[in-house]
Amino acid sequence: MNQRYFAVLVLALALAASAGASETLNIVATTSDIADLARAVAGGDHAAVSSICIGTEDPHYLTAKPGFIARARAADVWIAVGLELESAWELPVLNGSRNRKIPPGTAGYLDLSTSVELLEVPHGPISRSMGDVHPGGNPHYWLDPLNGRRMAEAIAERLARLRPEQAGDFYANLAKFRKELDRRMFGAEALKGAKAETLWKRHARGEEIANPGGWAAQLAPLRGKGIVTYHKSWTYFAHRFGMQVAGEMEPKPGVPPTARHLAALGETMKAQGVGLILQEPFYSRKAADRLAAATGARVVVVANSVGGQPEATDYLALMDRIVKQLTEK
Ligand SMILES: [Zn+2]
Repeated sequence: MNQRYFAVLVLALALAASAGASETLNIVATTSDIADLARAVAGGDHAAVSSICIGTEDPHYLTAKPGFIARARAADVWIAVGLELESAWELPVLNGSRNRKIPPGTAGYLDLSTSVELLEVPHGPISRSMGDVHPGGNPHYWLDPLNGRRMAEAIAERLARLRPEQAGDFYANLAKFRKELDRRMFGAEALKGAKAETLWKRHARGEEIANPGGWAAQLAPLRGKGIVTYHKSWTYFAHRFGMQVAGEMEPKPGVPPTARHLAALGETMKAQGVGLILQEPFYSRKAADRLAAATGARVVVVANSVGGQPEATDYLALMDRIVKQLTEK
């Protein structure tokens, strides 16, 4: 190789390396669920993805730490649940990072709550006496798999806007993820006979689906059944699968259970024949056990986020796990 060619080669390699470095999108998600969806959409080549809150933590009660600020400083994109789920720590972290790419309102900031249909949006004035009520609506929307689908779509759109040259890959990854989510929701047989969009609509209306499988078929026996949860964190999940939330062990959001509240809840459960008590692993299960002893209901302790249990390795595995624990005898 002569010297001139060698110089050109070195220059080309240097350019390729610098282009590669700037191409890698540093995505920081507030929660592990969002991080997993972002990973599915971004693929391994184009992005580095991490989350601030890990699945065993309660995102309501994290506090801003220097390590979070350092991660925000290096981020190209910041993706949040929104609706004040992260209000205890998100703004201090974003402000502390002084990263001008990711403040709310910029293309580098994505609030996924704007891409889903919200439940429990309060009407009228809100006061502290109501507990930790989220004024914009209930933020626990990721536990409805249709919302998981919508969140992935919103992530793909935003990443495509930030990196138009990779848009084709993002949308291809999204299509793959959506296909697998639909298959786990309805089963392969049902999807042979109807489009996924049609199945989601039919399922939402409680209409029959031909050759049903997946989560929809597994949870069908629980449709119309009552459940009691610790926090208002299963509202969207229950809504998607037609379960009725008869009450929460927290007397008000963010307020720990009291003996008086549990006694009243136990009466409601008996009157309505509620047989299932559902809660996340990071809450004490004392109240649940007490209610179970009083009512004969079964306690299910299951992760509500990716990484919250060893089996919940990704978003789809998290849903698999929830469905499995709810349906096992
Ligand atoms: Zn909450």
